[in-house]
Amino acid sequence: GTEGGGEVFCDKEIVRMDKAKRKAIIAGNWKMNKTASEAAVLVDELIPAVKDASCEVVICTPFTDLVTAVEKTKGTNIHVGAENVHFEKSGAFTGEISADMLVDLGVEYVIVGHSERRQYFAETDQTVNKRTLAALNAGLKVILCVGEVLSERKDGITSQIVCAQTEIALGGVSADELKNIIIAYEPVWAIGTGETATPEQANEVCAVIRSLIERLYGKDAADAIVVQYGGSMNDKNAAELLAQPDVDGGLIGGASLVAEKFTAIVNAASAK
Ligand code: PEP
Repeated sequence: GTEGGGEVFCDKEIVRMDKAKRKAIIAGNWKMNKTASEAAVLVDELIPAVKDASCEVVICTPFTDLVTAVEKTKGTNIHVGAENVHFEKSGAFTGEISADMLVDLGVEYVIVGHSERRQYFAETDQTVNKRTLAALNAGLKVILCVGEVLSERKDGITSQIVCAQTEIALGGVSADELKNIIIAYEPVWAIGTGETATPEQANEVCAVIRSLIERLYGKDAADAIVVQYGGSMNDKNAAELLAQPDVDGGLIGGASLVAEKFTAIVNAASAK
């Protein structure tokens, strides 16, 4: 294994007590859902519903919904993100979107390295790193997704996989730039499956990631970084997951498409 021998990172002792220092972030990942007109309806429902949230609220939408989302959320507490970004600044990359294009629209966040991009669109740890650096360079905040597949969990190599993905993705990221990184721990077997990690499983791996950040960037950075859980989080299970000491929020797929469900998750995070 790597430093400390793999799963040893999962020791309960590494749990930090300073969760209160971090502001939870609840981010929706709409995936390939909602036309621009449908997006307008959902955003209109969300604006009043989440206006008193004490957590950060982000909606990551398809590229075609970004203008609508940014325009509608101006002056509100809802922040807008994209679901992917290309790593080159501009050029002959037909069909791709650059970080500068997102920033120019008023987009603040971008999801990088989602497991669906890794699985269906040939995303690798190396391209995740390039996208992360390009996004940071343009001034975007990055929601960096990492997570093991079921066979890796069964093989007992979850910590190694998640740490390797995280460390490669953060290659060349300075301590200052790390402030614009949110890490989303998303076990692939829990995404869109209705199967949620138990609160203990979610916390264990979020704590592993925080320990890796401590090793790479020091204790202050580890205390400050927001580590989200994602994978079938919904209005029913959110409170228990978000109560975990190392779970600082959630990345929400399916439940982010329904205003009442997303609002309930935002409320659960705000109650912490
Ligand atoms: C996701 O896509 O990031 C996700 C967590 O999806 P779901 O909530 O639908 O499992």
